[in-house]
Amino acid sequence: MASRNGRRHHQGLVPLAALLSRETKNEKMEKPTMQYGCAAQSKKGEDYFLIKTECLRVPGNPSSAFSVFAVFDGHNGNAAAIYTRENLLNHVMTAIPGGLGREDWLQALPRALVAGFVKTDKEFQRRGETSGTTATFVIVDGWTVTAACVGDSRCILVTPGSAVSNLTVDHRLEDNAEERERVTASGGEVGRLVIFGGIEIGPLRCWPGGLCLSRSIGDMDVGEFIVPVPHVKQVKLSYLGGRLIIASDGIWDALSSDTAARSCHGLPAHLAAKQVVKEALRTRGLKDDTTCIVVDVIPPNGSNPPSPPPKNQNKLRELLLKIKSRSSSRSKLSKKLSSVGVVEELFEEGSAMLAERLGTHDSTAQSRPGLFTCEVCQVDLAPSEGISVHAGSIFSTSSKPWQGPFLCGDCRNKKDAMEGKRPSGIKAA
Ligand SMILES: [Zn+2]
Repeated sequence: MASRNGRRHHQGLVPLAALLSRETKNEKMEKPTMQYGCAAQSKKGEDYFLIKTECLRVPGNPSSAFSVFAVFDGHNGNAAAIYTRENLLNHVMTAIPGGLGREDWLQALPRALVAGFVKTDKEFQRRGETSGTTATFVIVDGWTVTAACVGDSRCILVTPGSAVSNLTVDHRLEDNAEERERVTASGGEVGRLVIFGGIEIGPLRCWPGGLCLSRSIGDMDVGEFIVPVPHVKQVKLSYLGGRLIIASDGIWDALSSDTAARSCHGLPAHLAAKQVVKEALRTRGLKDDTTCIVVDVIPPNGSNPPSPPPKNQNKLRELLLKIKSRSSSRSKLSKKLSSVGVVEELFEEGSAMLAERLGTHDSTAQSRPGLFTCEVCQVDLAPSEGISVHAGSIFSTSSKPWQGPFLCGDCRNKKDAMEGKRPSGIKAA
């Protein structure tokens, strides 16, 4: 159950079960502290970032604080990047039902991120402006990190012991075969730019539009198969904490994840961000807007590891465990995993299909009985108006089409367009 990838069987590892059976004297995890820094070099003026600490889950309650760190790399103008920076957080928050406790709130977050990204895209397109943007949006709440992204502004996690893992997926046609297939299946064409003489140049792009990305916010002049549905990953750090590096492709075109992590090793966050940018410019020069946020999640002062460090801890630190179970024993297991230095993967989903991402409602999710709201844009629906996200989809065989979540007509049209079920711009009746 704990690991589906078999890595726990590597030679030299202490069997996980043995570690977990050790008594943990202090299972309570105090909140970590946080340090962060940001550095940027502008070339086209289309990179934007957001750093917002002290956001409150419960209005007026400082103990419910969480932080947001985000990078938006605009293209064909900066309007989409600016709009997304100003509105995405709000759109995500309004998609979370009120009155949830911390654990339930964190569990509702992945779906709210999907709704918030799609709503932001829809509202921006309504303004009739061109331009698009990547969005990499990271919420840090205590030890739990939730990263959502469209585009290629990568977020990596560096854990003590120097293991580096990606919290995001690059939605770039050049490197992402799965996305190429999806775009093609939804009616787009993928190919390189052809110049005089039939010579193909540059990275793979999708047509119409010629965008190198397969997902973004905005881009209403590009096919609707360029979707705003984010890849979302949620992890719980161990008591050792970790470092997040969130950056635009100005960094990642120059540095690998490992190189970026190594280049700033040992530096405090504000210097680390500067160092990563410096390293990228040294390697490649200033070819593109280059933005980097570094966030350190630091164990609270004076807190000791709850149990003596096991001998092979360095190897264990490199484990990312996938725990899909949401059972009641999970939180106890979670504390034990943390105490042995294991980053726990709570959630990961990257499908571009809205029906898969919004799932089915459990009985508690509809906060106002008798009233249906659109799962994406949160408008109230008349009883006859809501269309189940599952209606008429391939999921209707396994799900009940009369079950929520529900979409308004507008959002249903958008969903169909994203899935290539109707030509772009033509609305269903
Ligand atoms: Zn809607």
